[in-house]
Amino acid sequence: MSDYITTTIEALAKQAYDGWPGHVGEERACELRAFIPDRLEHYSQHLGIDKEQLLRAWEEGRRVNTINHYQQSRYPNVNDVHVFKTLDEFKARFSSGKFRCPACSKETSNPYECNSGHIDSNGEACNWKSYGFLGTLGKGVEVIVLDDFIKTGAIHSIFSPVELEDA
Ligand SMILES: [Zn+2]
Repeated sequence: MSDYITTTIEALAKQAYDGWPGHVGEERACELRAFIPDRLEHYSQHLGIDKEQLLRAWEEGRRVNTINHYQQSRYPNVNDVHVFKTLDEFKARFSSGKFRCPACSKETSNPYECNSGHIDSNGEACNWKSYGFLGTLGKGVEVIVLDDFIKTGAIHSIFSPVELEDA
């Protein structure tokens, strides 16, 4: 591991410990020392990005304290994530620009917010959001755009592109 990685992990472990000294802090520091290298390995392998570059990007994008940030939920396995180099590559692959809303099952041109215009039984237009509490109801896909991921660490949870339905 590079010096940057070793130093950063130690600094984060210390922060975790200082946030809750004693036994709990020790456990948290210990978890971080295992969790971060494990995630770096996984992401670096699947995305073909250098580990140091990844950790720098994660730290730059971190807005909350160490313990709240480095969680499995934020760094899920990416085996099933669709990976694209650029947004243009994503748009070329899913060129119809149409996505399937998991709630009303209609097509929407916005991959995050349903704009199908479907009116439900309460007379209200569907405005389901992929980032809402119930997400994509297990029917969406996750997308990484490397250009953006390297800066923000963002994994986009979106409605499923209609192109995937024919496959
Ligand atoms: Zn909808």
